[in-house]
Amino acid sequence: MNNSNFIDSLEILAESDVIVAGGGPAGLGAALAAARNGAKVVLLEQTGALGGMASIGLVPMLAYTTDGVNITAAGICMEIAGEVVARMGVKKFDNYWQSINPEIFKKVCDEKVTAAGIKVYFSQKIAAVGRNGDRISSLAAAGPRGLKRITGKVFVDATGDGTVSAFAGAPFECGDANGKTMSPSLCVQYAGVDWDEYSDSAKAGRNYQNIWHELMDAGKAPLPERHFVGIFKTGPSVGTGNLGHIYGANGINEADVTRGYIEGREIAGIIHRFFREHVPGFRNSELVNTASLLSVRETRRITGDYCLNFEDYRRRAVFPDEIGRYSYPVDIHSSSTDADEQRKVEERMKETGYKAGENYGIPYRALLPRGINNLLVAGRSICCDREVQSSLRVMPGCFITGQAAGTAAALSLSCQGITREVKADQLRAAMRDKLGAYLP
Ligand SMILES: Cc1cc2nc3c(=O)[nH]c(=O)nc-3n(C[C@H](O)[C@H](O)[C@H](O)COP(=O)(O)OP(=O)(O)OC[C@H]3O[C@@H](n4cnc5c(N)ncnc54)[C@H](O)[C@@H]3O)c2cc1C
Repeated sequence: MNNSNFIDSLEILAESDVIVAGGGPAGLGAALAAARNGAKVVLLEQTGALGGMASIGLVPMLAYTTDGVNITAAGICMEIAGEVVARMGVKKFDNYWQSINPEIFKKVCDEKVTAAGIKVYFSQKIAAVGRNGDRISSLAAAGPRGLKRITGKVFVDATGDGTVSAFAGAPFECGDANGKTMSPSLCVQYAGVDWDEYSDSAKAGRNYQNIWHELMDAGKAPLPERHFVGIFKTGPSVGTGNLGHIYGANGINEADVTRGYIEGREIAGIIHRFFREHVPGFRNSELVNTASLLSVRETRRITGDYCLNFEDYRRRAVFPDEIGRYSYPVDIHSSSTDADEQRKVEERMKETGYKAGENYGIPYRALLPRGINNLLVAGRSICCDREVQSSLRVMPGCFITGQAAGTAAALSLSCQGITREVKADQLRAAMRDKLGAYLP
C-alpha cells in the first residue's frame, strides 16, 4: 500500500540513516553490517525476538556455511552461529548441517545488536510504505500505540516476504507459473528425548525416517508425507523438528496463513504420536512448543536489476558486482501431497549438488528492487528464479545477502541513499575489510 499523505500525518516513532525491516538472518546481517560501517540503524521487527525462522520459527538447522573448501558464509553468519554453537556446548561446528538452539540464538542476537548500538523496535509490524517519486519516504508500522511513522534515508527490506518492496510498488513474482509456492511447515520442539537411545537405534539402521517410510509403504502412516525432514538435537534432552508440511498453503494469503497455524498444530500432534509410539528414545518425549511464526519457505521474489537464474547456478556464474558466493543445492519442496512430486525433491537436490569447492556468484543488482532508488532487498525474496531462490533461501544464504545490503546501505549515505550509485569495488572492499566476507 502506498499512502504517503496518510503516513506523513502519523506521529514519528523513529528516524535514522538506515531502516531495516525484519530481524531474521537477512535483517540481522543487514543491521549489523550497516552499523559496523558507521551508519545509524533502526531495526523493526513484528515479533518479540530476533532471528526470524532461526528462533521464532524454530527452524532447527543451519544449512551449508561452506562449499566443502571455502567458508562461503564468512562474516556475520559465522560470527553469530559460532557463538550460538559454543554456548550450546557443541565441540565441532558442522559446516553442512549445524543444529541451533532457538533460545540461545535469540539471546546472542540481542547481545550483538545492543553492542553494535542498533536501535531495535519489537512488536512493530510494517503495514504501509510512503513513496516520494522514486524513493521511499517513510514506513508505517502498527505497534502497541497504533500506527506510527518511521523515516530514514535508505531502507532494507528483510521481511522475508518482500513486504516493504511490494507495498512500495516494486514488481514481484510469487511461486511457480501457477502461483503455487513451496508448502510451509510449523516447526516443533520436543522435551524429554533420550538422544543416546535414539542414536544407538539410528546407528543400527532404524532412524525415524526409515521407520516412517516403512509405515508409509505399509499404508499405515498417519499423514501423506513422503518428504519427511527431521528432528535434531538442540539441547541435552531437547529436539527441534522440521516435521510435516501444510500442503497448498501460501504464506502471503491470509486464509492460508491461518490454516497453516491450525493445521500445523494438528500435524504436530499427529507426528509426535508417531514418535512416541514408534521411535526409540522418544517414548517419554513431550511436544512442548510449536513455532509462533509460521515456517514459510517461499513467497514473493522482488523484481530487481538482475534476476539470478538457474543457468547462472549451473555455470557457477561469476559477476563483476558480486557480493558473495554460495553453493546450497536446488531444494524446492512440493506444493502438493502427491507422493511422486515429494519424492523428486530430494532427487533434485542430489542432481543439482555441486562438487567440493564449487559455488555461484550473487550480483549486487539482484538486491535492487526495480523503480525504487533508496531500497535494498535481502534474504529469501531477492531477485532470482525459483531454483536459485530454493538455494539462497537457507539461512547462511540470507545472512550473505543481508550483510551485503547493510554494507551497501551504509555506503549509499554518501550519495543521498541512492543504492544504485554504490560502486561494486567499494562495496566488496568494505565487506571484506569490515566483515571478513568470502569474496574471492
Ligand atoms: C520449515 C523450514 C525449514 C527450513 N530449513 C532450513 C534449514 O534446515 N537450514 C537453513 O539454513 N534454512 C532453512 N530454512 C530456510 C530459512 O530458515 C529461511 O528461508 C530464512 O530464515 C529466511 O531468512 P530471512 O531473514 O529472509 O527471513 P525470516 O527468517 O523469515 O525473517 C523475517 C523477519 O521479518 C519479520 N517480519 C516479517 N514481516 C514483517 C513486517 N511486516 N513488519 C516487521 N517485521 C516483519 C519476521 O517476523 C521475521 O523475524 C527453512 C525454512 C523453513 C520455513
